[in-house]
Amino acid sequence: MRLLLLGKGGQVGWELQRALAPLGEVVALDFDSPAPLAADFTQPETLAATVRAVRPDVIVNAAAHTAVDKAESEPELARTINATAPGVLAREAAALGATLVHYSTDYVFDGSGSEPRDENAPTAPLSAYGRTKLEGEDAIRASGCTHLILRTSWVYAARGGNFARTMLKLAAERDKLTVIDDQHGAPTGAELLADVTALCLQKLRLQPVLGGTYHAVAAGETTWHGYATHVIAWARERGHPIKVAADAIAAVPTSAFPTPARRPLNSRLDTRKLRQTFGLHLPDWRVGVDRMLDEVHKTPA
Ligand code: NDP
Repeated sequence: MRLLLLGKGGQVGWELQRALAPLGEVVALDFDSPAPLAADFTQPETLAATVRAVRPDVIVNAAAHTAVDKAESEPELARTINATAPGVLAREAAALGATLVHYSTDYVFDGSGSEPRDENAPTAPLSAYGRTKLEGEDAIRASGCTHLILRTSWVYAARGGNFARTMLKLAAERDKLTVIDDQHGAPTGAELLADVTALCLQKLRLQPVLGGTYHAVAAGETTWHGYATHVIAWARERGHPIKVAADAIAAVPTSAFPTPARRPLNSRLDTRKLRQTFGLHLPDWRVGVDRMLDEVHKTPA
C-alpha cells in the first residue's frame, strides 16, 4: 500500500509519520517540499499533480490553517487551505479510487448546551476557522471518495509548544494564575489520533463501507482550568519548582480573555460511533497528558 501524507511537520503529521509507517510506503510532504511533489495548500491545484504523480492508495491530510484567531482576519487564506485544497484532494482521491483521511474540529459546532455531540448534531460554527473546516468536510463528503473525517479537539503533542508546557512555565514564574473554566472538552494527543488513524485505516481498506465522519477525542472531559490544575499538580508531585499555590489558580470565564475568534463553550464530542465501528478503546485524557509530560519534563534528581 502507498500512502501520501500531507502536513508531515504538524503535531498530528509528525506522529502520523510514525504510525503510518507499518501500513506501507509513506510519501510524506510538507509546505516546502521540493518540486515536483508540491504540497503547498495555498496552491490547491498543484496538489492534483502531486496526487497524480504519487498515485497513492491512501491520502492522509494533516495540513490545515490552525491559527484560529488569525483566520478571522484572513478568512480567504483559511478557506483555501481548509476547504478548497481538501476539496481538490477529495476529487483526486475519487478519480484514483483512493481513500482520503482528513481531520476536522469541534469548532464546527456552536458549543451550546452541556451534552456531548454526536456526528449527526447540527453544525453552526462560530469562527472563520470553524466555517472553513466545515466547508472542507462538506467538499470531501460531496466528492464521493472513500473517506474518514476525524473530528477532534484540544490537540497537543510532545513536540513543540503546547498549553501544558505554557502552564508549567507560568506556574514556575508566578504566584497566581488565571485560567478559563467555562470551556469544556477533552485534550487529545496527536499520538493517540495518529494511532487511531492507522487502526481505522486497516479496517477501512477491507471495508470501505465504514468510511464517514467520526468524533475522535480522548475519554473524559475537563476545562482549561481543570487541565492546568492537573498539569501543575503533576509537576508538584514530582518535585518540579512550582511557585503558584494550588489555591492560587483562579478560574475565570472566557470573557476574561477576549480573542478575535469565538470559541465553543461545550466542545464535548460523543465518540461512541468510532469506538463501536472500529472496536477501539479511547483512554482518559489524563493518560495521554501524563505520558506527554513524562516525555518532555525530566523529573529532578
Ligand atoms: P498544526 O498546526 O500542528 O499542523 C498543521 C500543518 O499544516 C503544519 O505542518 C503546517 O505547516 C501545515 N500547513 C499550514 N499551512 C500550510 C500550507 N499552506 N500548505 C501546506 N501545509 C500547510 O495542526 P495540528 O497537527 O494540531 O492539526 C491537525 C488537524 O487537526 C488539522 O486538520 C486541524 O484543523 C485539526 N484540529 C486541530 C486541533 C488543535 O487543537 N490543534 C483541534 C481540532 C482539530 P507549517 O508548520 O510549516 O506552517
